[in-house]
Amino acid sequence: MIIVMRPGAATDDIERVVSRVQRAGLSTHLSQGEDRTVIGVIGHDPYGIKDAFTHDPAVEDVIRITKPYKLSGREFRRQDTVVTLPGGLRIGGGEVVLMAGPCSVEDEAMLLETAAAVRDAGAHVLRGGAFKPRSSPYAFQGLGRSGLRILARARALTGLPVVTEVMTPGEVEAVSDAADIVQIGARSMQNFDLLREVGRQPKPVVIKRGLSSTIEEWLLSAEYVLSQGNYNVMLCERGIRTFETATRNTLDITAVPLLDELSHLPVVVDPSHGTGRWSLVAATARAAIAAGADALMIEVHPRPDEALSDGPQSLTLPNFASLVPTLDAVAHAVGRALAPSPTRTTGAAAAR
Ligand code: PEP
Ligand code: MN
Repeated sequence: MIIVMRPGAATDDIERVVSRVQRAGLSTHLSQGEDRTVIGVIGHDPYGIKDAFTHDPAVEDVIRITKPYKLSGREFRRQDTVVTLPGGLRIGGGEVVLMAGPCSVEDEAMLLETAAAVRDAGAHVLRGGAFKPRSSPYAFQGLGRSGLRILARARALTGLPVVTEVMTPGEVEAVSDAADIVQIGARSMQNFDLLREVGRQPKPVVIKRGLSSTIEEWLLSAEYVLSQGNYNVMLCERGIRTFETATRNTLDITAVPLLDELSHLPVVVDPSHGTGRWSLVAATARAAIAAGADALMIEVHPRPDEALSDGPQSLTLPNFASLVPTLDAVAHAVGRALAPSPTRTTGAAAAR
C-alpha cells in the first residue's frame, strides 16, 4: 500500500502519518518526489490502516498495491530510479551507458588491454567475472579473489567503474569492496540468501534474468534486494530458454518496454549472452537501445578464439570500437544519446 501525501505536506504531518502506520506494526519507506511525498507501507495490514487516513487533510490518496512485488513496481514509485556511480555516471536517467569487457578475468595483461581499449572506444563501465558460474565443473571457474585484485588495478589505471559477479553470500563482502556494481548472474537469480545479502551491502546491484524466469519472478528477486534497504537495483535482460536452438538464448526485447511499464528500475540488455553469437551482437544491441534500454552489457575479448569462456559471443576490440558510433546513431534517432565519455566524440558533437 502507498500513502500519497498532498503536495507540500508539512514534515509534522508526514511524521504523524509514518508513526501511525508504525504503531499498527507495519514498516514504512519514504519516497520524496519533486512535489509529493509518498509513504510506502510494507507488511500485512490486518487493521485496515487504509481507513485511518480517509479523512486526513494531509493525505491525498491511499492506494493498495495489487502486484506481488511492491517496492520494485511502478505503483510504488512513479519516477524512474536513477543509479549514480562514483564519478557521476548515471544509469536510468535517459542517456545510454555502455558496459563492456571480457566474460572472465583471465589474467592481468588481457584485462588491462581490454579495459584500455573499451574505454578508448567509449565504454563507461568495465565488466569481467572473477567468480564464474560454469555449467561444467571442469570448465574454467574464474580467478576468484585474485581476479578481484586485477579488476581493482584495471579500475585504477583506466578510471572505469567495474561490474563483477558474486556467487555466494560468503563472498559478498569481498566482491562489494572491489566492485562499483555487484552482479547477480542468471543462475543465481533465485538464490534468495544471496539476494538478501547483496541487499545489505551498499553498492548498486544488477540482477540478470534467470534462464527460464518470468518477468514477475525477476521483479520478485529485485524485491528481495530492495526489501533489505538497497534501492540501487538494475535488471539485466540476457536472453531466456525457448524452443529455439539456433541461438544460445532468445533475447526478449519485449521485456525492455514491458519493464518500463511495470517497474521504475533501470533496464540493462546483454546481447552477448542473449544471442550467444558475436555476429548477432551489433544488431541486437542497437535494437535494445531503440527499445529503451538504459544500458548495454557487451562481452569483448582481445582474442576471442583463445578466450577461456564465451569466446564465440565476444566481440574483438576493433569490432567493439566500430559498434559504438552506430549505437550513438541509433540513440540519437530515438531522441536519446550515449552518456558522456571523456574518450568519445558524440555524433552530435562531431557534427558541430
Ligand atoms: C556473465 O555475465 O558472464 C554471465 C555468466 O552471465 P549470465 O549470468 O547472464 O549467464
Ligand atoms: Mn559470459
